[in-house]
Amino acid sequence: MLDCAIIGGGPAGLTAGLYATRGGLKNVALFEMGVPGGQITKSSEIENYPGFFDSTKTGLDFMDTWQKQCFNFGLKHEMKKVETIDKTGEHFTLTLEGGETVEAMTAIVATGAVPRRANFNGEDEFYGRGVSTCATCDGFFYKDKPVTVLGGGDTALEEAFYLSNICSDVYVVHRRDEFRAAPPTIDRATRKENIHFIFDSVIEDAVGDKMGLSGVDIRNVKTDKITHMDNTGLFVFVGQDVKNDVLKDASDNFICKMSESAQVIVDLNMKTSVPGLFVAGDLRIEAPKQVVSAAGDGSIAALQVISYIQEQQ
Ligand code: FAD
Ligand code: NAP
Repeated sequence: MLDCAIIGGGPAGLTAGLYATRGGLKNVALFEMGVPGGQITKSSEIENYPGFFDSTKTGLDFMDTWQKQCFNFGLKHEMKKVETIDKTGEHFTLTLEGGETVEAMTAIVATGAVPRRANFNGEDEFYGRGVSTCATCDGFFYKDKPVTVLGGGDTALEEAFYLSNICSDVYVVHRRDEFRAAPPTIDRATRKENIHFIFDSVIEDAVGDKMGLSGVDIRNVKTDKITHMDNTGLFVFVGQDVKNDVLKDASDNFICKMSESAQVIVDLNMKTSVPGLFVAGDLRIEAPKQVVSAAGDGSIAALQVISYIQEQQ
């Protein structure tokens, strides 16, 4: 039986693994269905993590050293998706993709969030063929070409700025006339000559053919006027949805208390309503959705796991 099963290998899960193993737990496994690193690996930059200040480095570069450090104290890495987690008696049973089960005394769930779809016509059809949610991954395909960015938050404006250094022009389409992003991020994007703003507007249709996306129809939400633009890349940054499905039982009910927006209710120790089950990072209520706070949550959860196990013995 594992001392602790950590589900999710983003900043919260990796940090939990570092603290749990360095704090003396011998049998800790981190289950990550992809390459560890989490959402920030999709970012073209990170400039608000204290101690790391190199604008030439991407989120992927940034997380590379995390992996080396966090697996340095005996944390095991299982590259598997966890389907469900149940509390059976005093311990937890994880069911992995394929049906294998694993038992653990405690669990830290840090499954984070995924990019939200905007739900315009053609979004799914052209996803991966012109529609993208990752500028670092796909921006280079549109070198010296015009692209469209949808959204008005920090992600949209940061990624628009990144794309503006690669693409000829970046058209930011936002449904209101005020951005949600932080003032310095707005200021920097506004000063870039090849970033253009299209306010009060949404994407009505992604248009294309077998070769992929060829353009977008943009609708002004105040006038309903549709404008067509020939653009080969459309980057969608309209927020994230938390990944909470692992916490659902066979009847589709959550095993712990959730908020109305389906985030996990935790206290300041990252304890959920189920003893021995902790949640860290973007999945928890009132998460600031920052790498630094996800990492902080992970450390708190791991320290609590160590205390919990000591109390049980
Ligand atoms: P995540 O990073 O979402 O990691 C969760 C991990 O769990 C993923 O790797 C996923 O594959 C895995 N997982 C999910 N379900 C399962 C399962 N069932 N089984 C196994 N594994 C599973 N924050 C900043 O502080 N500064 C920034 O500059 C910044 N820029 C950003 C730019 C972009 C483009 C994005 C999308 C986010 C940015 N953020 C930034 C926010 C930051 O990335 C997140 O707040 C942070 O990554 C949350 O960490 P987490 O560990 O909670 O979850
Ligand atoms: P976000 O803050 O939720 O912003 C989403 C944007 O998309 C909003 O402008 C929203 O419009 C728009 N939008 C939502 N649904 C839409 C739809 N269907 N069609 C068109 N537009 C739509 O998401 P985010 O920018 O991804 O940021 C998520 C969190 O991560 C935030 O807390 C953010 O601060 C954090 N983050 C931080 C950094 C950083 O610190 N540097 C970087 C990236 C992200 P409205 O404004 O009208 O709602």
